[in-house]
This record gives sequence, structure tokens and C-alpha cells, in this order.
Amino acid sequence: MAAEQQNAGHPPLEEQEISAPLEPVQIRGLEPSALPAAPPGFKSGFAALIGRPNVGKSTLMNALVGQKIAITSPVAQTTRNRLRGILSLPQAQIIWVDTPGIHKPLHRLGEILVHNAQAAIGSVDVVLFVVDGSVPAGRGDAFIAERIPATTPCILVCNKADLLKDAATRQAHQESYQALRPAAPVVWVSALDPGSLPPLIQVTVDLLPAGPYYYPPNLVTDQPERFIMAELIREQVLLHTREEVPHSVAVTIDQVEETPKVTRVLATLYVERDSQKGILIGKGGERLKQIGQAARLQIQKLIAGKVYLELFVKVRPHWRRSEHLLRDFGYRLET
Ligand code: GDP
Ligand code: MG
Repeated sequence: MAAEQQNAGHPPLEEQEISAPLEPVQIRGLEPSALPAAPPGFKSGFAALIGRPNVGKSTLMNALVGQKIAITSPVAQTTRNRLRGILSLPQAQIIWVDTPGIHKPLHRLGEILVHNAQAAIGSVDVVLFVVDGSVPAGRGDAFIAERIPATTPCILVCNKADLLKDAATRQAHQESYQALRPAAPVVWVSALDPGSLPPLIQVTVDLLPAGPYYYPPNLVTDQPERFIMAELIREQVLLHTREEVPHSVAVTIDQVEETPKVTRVLATLYVERDSQKGILIGKGGERLKQIGQAARLQIQKLIAGKVYLELFVKVRPHWRRSEHLLRDFGYRLET
């Protein structure tokens, strides 16, 4: 439905205010309740997922909270914002902190992403050092291991166990990672298989301090629904385009209008060049239509209701270098 080229049947979006301050989390159907008192022996805290791009941090975070809140794709550097996912258990609450992969920054956006990933390391109780267990450790992993303070409790999480059947290879890969953080407990998981996760959850709880509920137990993320909508649209851009386009796109949600039958969402995709706009829209608007249709299905799952989605495309030259536009698009330095 309705992924249309700019301004078809609508007043120019230039005339509309973009991105008013967002209300706090609303994953629908899950009304935040007051914070309950923690029972005796309750443990809680923050656990950051740190690792190279593409090792599966965001996929793992979604699996750990049982709902898609972080977008994932085979394109490196999919994740741009620090995102919290909340898992509440009878005796513990774990706040997982997904981070952009740590890499060498090439522009201001990259600098902000790497800064924020590093800031996350310093502000959590536990670091999950997530690696791709299907390949041996590389220089990127060593670079990250060096940035995890020796005093920070750390779990070595070998992901993508499903890709490795051979025990000897598995052992060899594990040893290459253990060399980077010898004292860390090792847990193998497959983010694609929720049944593989309980040991990781248990080891994480073991390392958490005694503490209170930080969030209502029925909440799965601290992000507003609009943020996740924008991310679900950006995910489809990543999956439908190639090369320089994916990294040059920012998405804003300009309007969300709820009626009893349907939720109407207007969103804008910002790119840096006219050529990228052409690629996004595609011949006769075909690609933008596909992106819109796929994103609409994802957003329908998020809000558990019918969605009418309309997409607009605009050019903002060099937005990734502009402090002011980066701020408008929600990319800030975190501490
Ligand atoms: P991130 O950059 O570390 O957040 O990685 P993503 O979560 O975006 O995942 C990168 C790619 O790896 C995606 O295509 C995922 O589907 C894939 N992936 C993640 N976890 C696993 C896993 O356990 N097994 C397999 N086979 N693929 C995975
Ligand atoms: Mg990610």
C-alpha cells in the first residue's frame, strides 16, 4: 500500500514541523506500570553488547527480549543508536544495551557511533563481547578487546554456533577469541535459535549486582514507538539498496495519526544526493513502493494493528557531516 513518490496527493512536507519531542516508550498493548518493589535477592543491571559490525549483536538483542526492537541486516553498520532492550525475570532484570559495531570512523556520523559504543562500555555492569564464532578472531576483535577495561566483568559470547558443526573447528575458533580475554567465561549461542540463550542469560544474571527494577517489568525497550518505526523503514532501505545508498539514508517519522481502523504514518527518507534519491525511488517508483510495503508489514507487527504508510524522499547534501542535521535526525553524542 501507498509508498509513493514525494508529495503525491499531499501538501509539501517542507511546510510541516518535523520531529517534535517524543513521548517515552509505547509498545502498544504493554502499558507501562509503576515500578514494583524488588523481592529479596533480586539482581539487576546493564549489559552492553559490544563487537565488530555484523557479528549479530542486534539479532541477539531481539532474541533476548523476544521482540524485534533492533533492526538487523547483512550490511555492516546497520545499528546507529544505542538501544536498550529489557528482559524481566522473576529474580532479575537485565537491560541489554545494543551498540553500533566499533570500527574506524570515516565521517562525523561514524565518529558519533564509535564514541557512543565506547561510552556504553564504561557505563554498564557487564560487557557481552560478541564475536562471530563461525570464523576465527581477527584484528577487529583484538581492537575491541583492548577497549574493554580489565576491571569490567565480561562474557565472551560466541555467536552463529549454527554455522559450525565440527567440534575441532569450534574449539580452535574459541581459543582464538579466548586469547583476547583469557579470564572471561565463554558461552556459545545462535541468535537465530532462542533455545540456545538460557545459559547466556544465566551467566549474565550471575555477574549482575543486587539492585532494583529500573523499568516496569512489561516494557521491552526504552525507545519511543516512533523511533522503532523509523528504524524498521531504514532496515528495508538497507535490504533493498546497495553500495553507498544504505549508509546515506536517514528516516524521520513526520506524523502518526491513529484512527479506530488504521494508523496512518508519514515518513521521510533523507539522502545526500539526487542520484541516491533516484535509486531509492526506482523506475516508476517501483523500489520505494517495495520498501514501503515491506516496512508497512513490519510496523503492523510492532503496533499490532493496520498501518497505512506513506514515504517521501528528500535530498539533504552531506547530512552526515552536518552537526545540525545529525541532531535533527536523532544522532547525538551519548555519555
Ligand atoms: P550486528 O551488526 O552485530 O548488530 O549484526 P546483525 O544483528 O545486524 O546481524 C548481521 C547478520 O548476521 C544478519 O544477516 C543476521 O541475520 C546474521 N546473524 C546474526 N546472528 C546469527 C546467527 O546466530 N547465525 C546465523 N547464521 N546468522 C546470524
Ligand atoms: Mg546492530
